[in-house]
Amino acid sequence: MDYQALAALLFPNVTETAEALEEKFPARSLPEGAVVTRMAPSPTGFVHLGNLVQGLTAERMAHQSGGVLFLRVEDTDAKREVPGAVEVLINTLKHYGISFDEGATIDGDFGAYGPYRQRQRAFLYHVYAKKLVSEGQAYPCFCTEEQLAAMREQQEANKETTGYYGKYAMWRDRSLEDIQAELAAGHPWVLRFRSTGSIENQFKFDDLVKGKLTITENDVDHVLLKSDGIPTYHFAHAVDDHLMRTTHVVRGDEWLPTLPFHIQLFKALGFKLPKYVHIGPLMKMDGTSKRKLSKRKDPELALTYYKAEGFPVEAVYEYIMTLLNSNFEDWRRANADAAADTFKFNAKKLNPAGSLFDYAKLTDVSKNVISRMDAGKVYALLTEWAEEFDPDFAEKLKADPEYATKILAIGRGGKKPRKDLAVWKDAKPYMGFFYDAYLEKPQFDEKFDRADIVDALHRFLERFDIQDDANTWFEKVKAVTTDMGYTTDMKAYKADPTAFPGTVADVSTFIRQAVTGKTNSPDLYTVMQILGYERTVERIKTVLAQL
Ligand code: GLU
Repeated sequence: MDYQALAALLFPNVTETAEALEEKFPARSLPEGAVVTRMAPSPTGFVHLGNLVQGLTAERMAHQSGGVLFLRVEDTDAKREVPGAVEVLINTLKHYGISFDEGATIDGDFGAYGPYRQRQRAFLYHVYAKKLVSEGQAYPCFCTEEQLAAMREQQEANKETTGYYGKYAMWRDRSLEDIQAELAAGHPWVLRFRSTGSIENQFKFDDLVKGKLTITENDVDHVLLKSDGIPTYHFAHAVDDHLMRTTHVVRGDEWLPTLPFHIQLFKALGFKLPKYVHIGPLMKMDGTSKRKLSKRKDPELALTYYKAEGFPVEAVYEYIMTLLNSNFEDWRRANADAAADTFKFNAKKLNPAGSLFDYAKLTDVSKNVISRMDAGKVYALLTEWAEEFDPDFAEKLKADPEYATKILAIGRGGKKPRKDLAVWKDAKPYMGFFYDAYLEKPQFDEKFDRADIVDALHRFLERFDIQDDANTWFEKVKAVTTDMGYTTDMKAYKADPTAFPGTVADVSTFIRQAVTGKTNSPDLYTVMQILGYERTVERIKTVLAQL
């Protein structure tokens, strides 16, 4: 077979050579040990937590080593693509602060190793396709769907492995004349790899996450180019990661089964094999067993979910770091205020089996993250969230930023900051009462006499002075308590509850409910300081009028 003639026949318009491309996309001049890696998502319209897990791993590996992270859009599967999905993808990754040094952006591609969208790279794949054909390493296959289905059926009936291999590789050794005849008849074809591998052979391979693997050679003549000339993932992976000079491939472990083929393909193309970092799936507990997070069953897989709930980006980031490197939490405890990217990330610490996603843990991490923010930052992030997800609340927050910031400053700073907020969604239930429009009517406990509540509120109003410090204020609450015949002696009350109609805690609750509408609130003295004398008094009077 004259492979040169076949190559010319299949790719008459390809004039570029692989050598020329080597020069066009030269090796990067980076310091020793610098990792060049990428995120290579497909624009399906759904960006999930797994993307972020992979993205952060790639980002840390690249930037911690003084290397490069780029974004490549794998848009070869037009059927799966949703309009606008590339924009959603780029914006979501940007929102989560994954900063790319090159690649696809909303305003086009930037960087010297592009284009970074696979559909724009067809001319490059064809150079290598032609090269492989000219070397006898790839050939056209004209099998129809029906033929392939019949072949599969027969293999199943024979209890053989299914696939296009060995004696089943119908077009592997056909003559140039046969091929010419098919082409002349205008029959569609795909380009297949001519595998020289055998499933009898195994070799060792080192994956940075999975560790030492024993791999069986691939013997299947996989498709390289589909009938429309668009490459399969496998072929595009080899060509792109070579030409973009990727040193480390960080990707999901669903690609592990085709890794033998990828290794083979890099070799056939004369490319240096990159290192592989195969990341396990995200799992969750379902009853007593673990299962993979599923797009269909688990809303918390979608990144849009975290945005809508109002998890700060930093919290999601920190949580993912705890999943990736179990020593992150200890580091965080010891370095409460350090920027997360000063943590020494180690890809080798990733759990090969994947990570167990734990919503309660995420919430906890988020509470800590928010508790460490200053009030100005909380105000800015909360308002940004509310503008999108609770515009009415956003209006209130923006009407008086100073007031809102004062509220958000309650319990902040110091060694043990309050942890009231896990997500921005929690903010309105927590602080809404500071806004008259959100103030609820109090529901006093039925066990107390209404007259007692009225009495307590009157007595408090008589003494209330906004100039008082916290101690004086509390002394007055205690005075109200004893004047009413309630007790401030909690021990005595506990010993014999029937001896008193109520305690100082009950009196505080009456006042708290009158001022905030709720039985729980941040420190009541501070609440009154922020509300001011008039509004506090007005609120108490309004409640008195209803009692
Ligand atoms: N487009 C592939 C995916 O979304 C990329 C895998 C890779 O990173 O190589 O699964």
